[in-house]
Amino acid sequence: METRGYKNIMEEIVEVLVVTLLAGPEYQTFCKCKKCRNDVIALSLNSLPPQYATTQENRQRVYESYNQPSMRKWVNKRIISSLHIVNKYPQHKG
Ligand SMILES: [Zn+2]
Repeated sequence: METRGYKNIMEEIVEVLVVTLLAGPEYQTFCKCKKCRNDVIALSLNSLPPQYATTQENRQRVYESYNQPSMRKWVNKRIISSLHIVNKYPQHKG
Protein backbone atom coordinates (compact mmCIF):
# COMPACT_ATOMS: atom_id res chain seq x y z
CA MET A 1 0.00 0.00 0.00
CA GLU A 2 1.07 3.57 -0.59
CA THR A 3 2.21 5.80 2.26
CA ARG A 4 -1.14 7.60 2.42
CA GLY A 5 -2.64 4.21 3.36
CA TYR A 6 -5.39 3.87 0.79
CA LYS A 7 -5.57 3.38 -2.92
CA ASN A 8 -8.17 3.11 -5.65
CA ILE A 9 -7.47 -0.38 -6.97
CA MET A 10 -9.49 0.35 -10.09
CA GLU A 11 -6.58 2.55 -11.20
CA GLU A 12 -4.26 -0.48 -11.28
CA ILE A 13 -6.83 -2.70 -12.95
CA VAL A 14 -7.71 -0.17 -15.65
CA GLU A 15 -4.06 0.73 -16.36
CA VAL A 16 -3.18 -2.90 -17.04
CA LEU A 17 -6.26 -3.52 -19.17
CA VAL A 18 -5.73 -0.38 -21.28
CA VAL A 19 -2.11 -1.31 -22.00
CA THR A 20 -3.15 -4.88 -22.82
CA LEU A 21 -5.96 -3.82 -25.15
CA LEU A 22 -3.77 -1.28 -26.95
CA ALA A 23 -1.16 -3.99 -27.58
CA GLY A 24 -3.77 -6.19 -29.26
CA PRO A 25 -4.45 -6.45 -33.00
CA GLU A 26 -7.84 -4.68 -32.81
CA TYR A 27 -6.29 -1.38 -31.78
CA GLN A 28 -3.23 -1.33 -34.04
CA THR A 29 -4.25 1.96 -35.64
CA PHE A 30 -5.06 3.70 -32.33
CA CYS A 31 -2.61 6.29 -31.02
CA LYS A 32 -0.48 4.91 -28.20
CA CYS A 33 1.16 8.13 -27.03
CA LYS A 34 1.26 8.81 -23.30
CA LYS A 35 -1.38 11.55 -23.51
CA CYS A 36 -3.90 9.37 -25.33
CA ARG A 37 -3.24 6.43 -23.02
CA ASN A 38 -3.72 8.63 -19.95
CA ASP A 39 -6.91 10.08 -21.43
CA VAL A 40 -8.31 6.58 -22.00
CA ILE A 41 -7.42 5.60 -18.43
CA ALA A 42 -8.96 8.76 -16.93
CA LEU A 43 -12.11 8.52 -19.04
CA SER A 44 -12.56 4.85 -18.13
CA LEU A 45 -12.02 5.53 -14.43
CA ASN A 46 -14.65 8.28 -14.52
CA SER A 47 -17.21 5.75 -15.71
CA LEU A 48 -16.29 3.02 -13.21
CA PRO A 49 -16.92 2.90 -9.47
CA PRO A 50 -13.78 3.43 -7.38
CA GLN A 51 -12.64 0.46 -5.28
CA TYR A 52 -10.52 1.76 -2.46
CA ALA A 53 -8.43 -0.61 -0.40
CA THR A 54 -6.34 -0.02 2.73
CA THR A 55 -4.66 -3.41 3.02
CA GLN A 56 -3.18 -5.99 0.67
CA GLU A 57 -6.00 -8.28 1.72
CA ASN A 58 -8.64 -5.77 0.60
CA ARG A 59 -6.71 -5.24 -2.60
CA GLN A 60 -6.68 -8.97 -3.27
CA ARG A 61 -10.43 -9.13 -2.72
CA VAL A 62 -11.01 -6.35 -5.26
CA TYR A 63 -8.80 -8.18 -7.78
CA GLU A 64 -10.68 -11.41 -7.23
CA SER A 65 -14.07 -9.86 -7.77
CA TYR A 66 -12.92 -8.06 -10.93
CA ASN A 67 -11.40 -11.26 -12.26
CA GLN A 68 -14.85 -12.80 -12.66
CA PRO A 69 -15.64 -13.05 -16.39
CA SER A 70 -18.80 -10.94 -16.13
CA MET A 71 -17.00 -8.14 -14.27
CA ARG A 72 -14.07 -8.24 -16.65
CA LYS A 73 -16.45 -7.96 -19.59
CA TRP A 74 -18.23 -5.03 -17.98
CA VAL A 75 -14.98 -3.16 -17.28
CA ASN A 76 -13.61 -3.93 -20.76
CA LYS A 77 -16.76 -2.53 -22.32
CA ARG A 78 -16.19 0.81 -20.61
CA ILE A 79 -12.53 0.88 -21.56
CA ILE A 80 -13.32 0.07 -25.18
CA SER A 81 -15.84 2.88 -25.38
CA SER A 82 -13.21 5.27 -23.93
CA LEU A 83 -10.65 4.01 -26.46
CA HIS A 84 -13.00 4.89 -29.29
CA ILE A 85 -13.78 8.36 -27.90
CA VAL A 86 -10.09 9.23 -27.45
CA ASN A 87 -9.26 7.82 -30.90
CA LYS A 88 -11.93 10.01 -32.45
CA TYR A 89 -11.08 13.16 -30.50
CA PRO A 90 -7.37 12.92 -29.58
CA GLN A 91 -6.08 15.66 -27.25
CA HIS A 92 -2.41 15.16 -28.09
CA LYS A 93 -0.45 17.95 -29.71
CA GLY A 94 0.22 17.74 -33.43
ZN1 LIG B 1 -1.95 10.35 -28.99
